[in-house]
Amino acid sequence: MSSKKEQEPEGEVRFAPPGEVTARSVRRELTLWYAAAKRDLPWRRTSDPYAIWVSEAMLQQTRVETVKEYWPRFLERFPTATALAEAEEEAVLEAWSGLGYYRRARSLQAAARVIASEHQGVFPRDLGAALDLPGVGPYTAGAVVSIAYDVPAPLVDGNVERVFARLFGMEGVRASGPLGRACWAAASFFVERLEGAVRPSVWNQALMELGALVCTPRAPRCDECPLAEECVAKARGNAVGIPRPKPRRASTEVELEVYVIERGGRWLLEQRPEGGLMGGMWQFPTVEVTSSGLFPEELGPGLAPVVEPEHDLIALTHGITHHRIRARVRSARMAASGGEGAAWFGPEEAAELALTGMARKVAERLAPARDPLFDRS
Ligand code: SF4
Repeated sequence: MSSKKEQEPEGEVRFAPPGEVTARSVRRELTLWYAAAKRDLPWRRTSDPYAIWVSEAMLQQTRVETVKEYWPRFLERFPTATALAEAEEEAVLEAWSGLGYYRRARSLQAAARVIASEHQGVFPRDLGAALDLPGVGPYTAGAVVSIAYDVPAPLVDGNVERVFARLFGMEGVRASGPLGRACWAAASFFVERLEGAVRPSVWNQALMELGALVCTPRAPRCDECPLAEECVAKARGNAVGIPRPKPRRASTEVELEVYVIERGGRWLLEQRPEGGLMGGMWQFPTVEVTSSGLFPEELGPGLAPVVEPEHDLIALTHGITHHRIRARVRSARMAASGGEGAAWFGPEEAAELALTGMARKVAERLAPARDPLFDRS
């Protein structure tokens, strides 16, 4: 039986603004620390708002080390918002392939088109105009206008939420509405009261950097922290428990059969329907054995009558959001010509396509002599 406490809805979390002495000390200690400890990241060497925006879009859900590889390559291919706006979607998805969450790439291009048509190709400096761009939320808008233009705009990402929650002892659930509102209030409080030489770009990045390097989720290094003296969670000894984790969502098990149909050194790949999950991306013909709805349970109409599975090649596991996928990769042959919605590609041509993450894994394993084109991990 669940306790009364468990049944209660998540309560409000309140940000109580600190006094001027504490606020000043937090500002000073954090920015001094940042000047000495910040990482030399490539996107910190530019003030180009477009380049900063691309880095922010990539950094959501992706590790810094991975973004270091993708960011310069993407900018080389699409050096301006206008270039991105005018590119073929297929080319954008291909440049994004491997970063996952392709909706981000599509949103980036949709917003680039608005920037090209309504803002003379320049990411807007105004926070409200930035927020009006498709797919640009409060975090990204705040990050770009504060970092690129030094506009005193607040931002809260997972790192900043953790720092503020611990610093002010705000006990709420991670990424929940109540804690989020309290942390945005804290972010606004500080960024609107910067003084002296402390610029919004420095302040916001310092907060994020502290969360990334010192106030880490499981092992905060309070002994090295510039805010240790002001920190409520440290004084209470409960930093690791703040913020509370979200209740776990059970993952769905998905079983797939993936068919590798080869002819003259080329693979038959099919394009996923536009509009759905991973819409427009290419994959090996795939059917779902289970019924999660993530993949169709039958091959598309052009393939269903003509594909004949032969023998097993490899087994793979893969994860997409809350789905744990196990794939049985089988060779197959075409019993007749056909393949509506599908086409033949050699490994090098396939490497240039916007492949799903699963298709890329299969291609990496099967490409003759491990074609370096696929080696992006
Ligand atoms: S003292 Fe510890 S818990 Fe507090 S902000 Fe610093 S690292 Fe985080």
